[in-house]
Amino acid sequence: MVDRVLGFEEALAEVLRQAATLAMPRGAERVTLSEAAGRVLATAVRAGRDQPPFHRSTRDGFAVRAADVGRALRVVGSVKAGEVWRGAALGEDETIEIMTGAPLPEGADAVVMVEHVAIQGGVLTVQAGRGVRAGENVVPRGAEARAGDTLLPVGRLLGAAEIAVAASCGYAELEVFARPRVAIVATGDELVELPGSVHPTHGDETAMDGAPGGSGSAMSGPPGGLLGDAKIYNSNSYALAALVRAEGGVAGRLEIARDTHDDVWERIAQGSMWDLLLLSGGVSMGKFDLVEEVLAEFDAEFFFTGALIQPGKPIVFGRLPKRGGTAHPQDGPWTGEWTYFFGLPGNPVSTQVCFHLFVAPLLRALAGCTDVAPQFVEAKLAEDVRGGAKVTRFLPAEMISAWEGVTVRVVGWQGSGDVAANARGNCYCVLPAGVESFAKGETVRVLLR
Ligand code: AMP
Ligand code: MG
Repeated sequence: MVDRVLGFEEALAEVLRQAATLAMPRGAERVTLSEAAGRVLATAVRAGRDQPPFHRSTRDGFAVRAADVGRALRVVGSVKAGEVWRGAALGEDETIEIMTGAPLPEGADAVVMVEHVAIQGGVLTVQAGRGVRAGENVVPRGAEARAGDTLLPVGRLLGAAEIAVAASCGYAELEVFARPRVAIVATGDELVELPGSVHPTHGDETAMDGAPGGSGSAMSGPPGGLLGDAKIYNSNSYALAALVRAEGGVAGRLEIARDTHDDVWERIAQGSMWDLLLLSGGVSMGKFDLVEEVLAEFDAEFFFTGALIQPGKPIVFGRLPKRGGTAHPQDGPWTGEWTYFFGLPGNPVSTQVCFHLFVAPLLRALAGCTDVAPQFVEAKLAEDVRGGAKVTRFLPAEMISAWEGVTVRVVGWQGSGDVAANARGNCYCVLPAGVESFAKGETVRVLLR
């Protein structure tokens, strides 16, 4: 097995390169528009007709011929939204009352706002200095979209804005990509599963995160004190499942793998049947860190075996050949498909940072998204920060986005095992390698989460 430790930017480029080579996700399904938020579009949304479908008034007021404004105009009728003016075309020195959203009557070329006119005895005069240009307060037919135009391309993540477009075009259902199925495996002898947790087997979705369930019993306070000394609850599987779901995947939390060759082997065999396998723990230099060596037994191809980042340095990324057959699929012939995997360092902050930096882009690509790169913004440091690290650091931090600007404050922490400090932050402050110190007011990058 080769050691391949990359700088941060190289490692990210490697993930993005893999993401770009992925074929479109296998399946697509139809969902109603109300179920479409968070899904990725598999068939483009097109305008069935011009939008707007008529010259649309954007104001309550009076439809006029712009050239006539300045003279007394005779009010010859009224048209509201949802109606078409059926009378004669607007003639010289005539005007028609019109409401926002109504089609402009034939012959008119502008709308004067109701606030800018005076009417007496059915005669309208526009206030002095309130002339209108032809086209004012009107959106011409087809100005927003032409019939047949693609308004939402394949691969677009659907949010409220996209759903509004689909609804405006009359789509009651959309074709979206199947969600990628992500197996999550925590490793470690110290880990204890939360009470009542169940684990999915392949093809059985009842124990997937997001399936209905819950004990319904009321919480009386923190449970605590249930564990033997030296044991900790498995928090990574739950954090990863939440992150997977937020990125459009379906998460299956498999049973914890103990730090034995056979247990890790079993779990990888199981996880290799899914679209993506996320392992946590067991990738460092410890005597019981077995994940890489067992992955190699499955003929894994490793794209990198570490990244120069902190936290998260021991991360491994690669893919496993998916094998066919039913009883012992890992012995069968290669199906031509791959299961991507990440071996994430077990410290919970490392796990989460690595997810945002590397897993999320690949997962978005598996989900069929075209826009996959992690998002960074710039912010000003609220306080001095010591630097001097040899690797790029991603420190839990609190970003405050105010009208005056965006500032970021690194939160105090006890290192990458400190889940509580991580939750006090809302982002990660990026500190480049090799810089001795960062001064208050300096601009730094921030990784959004
Ligand atoms: P490892 O990467 O296996 O060496 O683990 C590094 C640290 O992360 C150790 O302190 C582990 O106890 C902790 N850790 C590993 N896996 C988990 C997990 N699933 N949930 C919470 N902490 C974990
Ligand atoms: Mg471990």
